[in-house]
Amino acid sequence: MPDLDIAIAGAGPAGLATALYLRRAGHKVTIFERFEEPKPVGSGLILQPTGLSVLADLGLLDDILALGSRIERLHGADASTGRTVLAVRYDAQPGGRFGLAVHRAALFGVLFRAAQRQGIAIETGVEIETLEVGERASLVLDTGRKAGPFDLVVDASGSRSKLRRCLNDPAEPRPLTYGAFWASLGWRGEGFDENALLQRYDKASVMIGVLPIGRPQLGAEKMAAFFWSLKPADVEQVRKAGLDAWKARLIALWPECEAFTSQIDSFDQLSLARYGHHTMKLPAGRRLAVIGDAAHSTSPQLGQGANMALLDAAALSHALAQAGDVEAALEAYAKARRWHVRIFQALSLALTPFYQSDGAMLPFFRDRLVATIAKVPPLPGVLASMVAGTLVDPFRRIGLAEVQWDFGQNPGHDTIAS
Ligand SMILES: Cc1cc2nc3c(=O)[nH]c(=O)nc-3n(C[C@H](O)[C@H](O)[C@H](O)COP(=O)(O)OP(=O)(O)OC[C@H]3O[C@@H](n4cnc5c(N)ncnc54)[C@H](O)[C@@H]3O)c2cc1C
Repeated sequence: MPDLDIAIAGAGPAGLATALYLRRAGHKVTIFERFEEPKPVGSGLILQPTGLSVLADLGLLDDILALGSRIERLHGADASTGRTVLAVRYDAQPGGRFGLAVHRAALFGVLFRAAQRQGIAIETGVEIETLEVGERASLVLDTGRKAGPFDLVVDASGSRSKLRRCLNDPAEPRPLTYGAFWASLGWRGEGFDENALLQRYDKASVMIGVLPIGRPQLGAEKMAAFFWSLKPADVEQVRKAGLDAWKARLIALWPECEAFTSQIDSFDQLSLARYGHHTMKLPAGRRLAVIGDAAHSTSPQLGQGANMALLDAAALSHALAQAGDVEAALEAYAKARRWHVRIFQALSLALTPFYQSDGAMLPFFRDRLVATIAKVPPLPGVLASMVAGTLVDPFRRIGLAEVQWDFGQNPGHDTIAS
């Protein structure tokens, strides 16, 4: 396909990765972002073998490995009995896979610096309102200014996308009952495994998590993402009861967490994340591709969102490289991602209530039955593929090969921070 003039809405992981791919393919790319200074939002996340393979394809694997914390297992226990409720190990599948927990600023910084190195144009401080589509497509900004026309607009503007509304099937996110307080704190790891996501549960109404996330940038201190699930509707009540009451409740459930709660002096250090769930049936329209959270959002229970955003970016660039025209490429992109996205969205929706919901039935079932069944082969391997994002092959249809994780034979990849 000849070189295209492409606009990308949003400088999150999906937008930045797409810009890098499309620039590399020779297209003219401009990113439009509402922040004055492009910046990451939130605390930490786990890059799975899927997302890491996309970063490797972009030549950025060593950069991110140098910052993140290698995650080998996920472990969750009932807070009152200490009984193991969730135990997933990446090595339950052969191949040497692992997750990499990163500070959001680390992922953002690696992608953003690469975009700067490639001279990708980024217009900041612009709020995109809608799209006008004729022969080509123009962005309409909140100032009334029109940008374009472009051969293609990529909507990577996250779960609250406005551009998505231009399509016939705009699928708005349905708010989920539970959200969470998140904080990025110094890593005080005594008593915690630096290579694990650890969680404690009180039924399904409380989930506390500690995730080592490495460093936001080289030379910075190591950090942890710390989270406490709660209903956004209850936040006012928790604040009214006061920080000390919240800390006391938390420490009663998981005493070792004092190493983290002692770093919190005010509720202002805690960001409230609200979750929603939606999956677009067709994440494309005329001259418009919808990718990342704009196309599919969910709770972070399965930890796939940023990884799926990176896979979408790879899929769209592959489709554009293969197809004869933009419309054929958009169709191929949607088709290539359909099953992987649908299956993981369905799994996330089905599993979230076992960890974040009211009532005692689901956590009872989780604690007594699921934890036992999960040890019986082949379930440990199935769970490992689910967490890795590979339960359905995400690679073949988008022309991507998974990284060979055997670092013993590839000394260039043994630069992980922790
Ligand atoms: C608390 C929490 C924990 C999570 N944990 C994980 C995890 O462990 N693993 C994982 O893979 N995922 C996780 N996720 C999900 C992950 O953060 C998202 O899936 C990912 O950030 C989606 O990337 P994106 O680029 O599609 O959208 P975003 O990261 O939302 O980026 C969208 C960008 O578009 C810009 N924008 C939006 N609207 C406009 C507009 N109108 N005009 C101009 N610019 C606009 C925004 O400013 C932003 O920069 C978590 C999410 C949350 C909230």
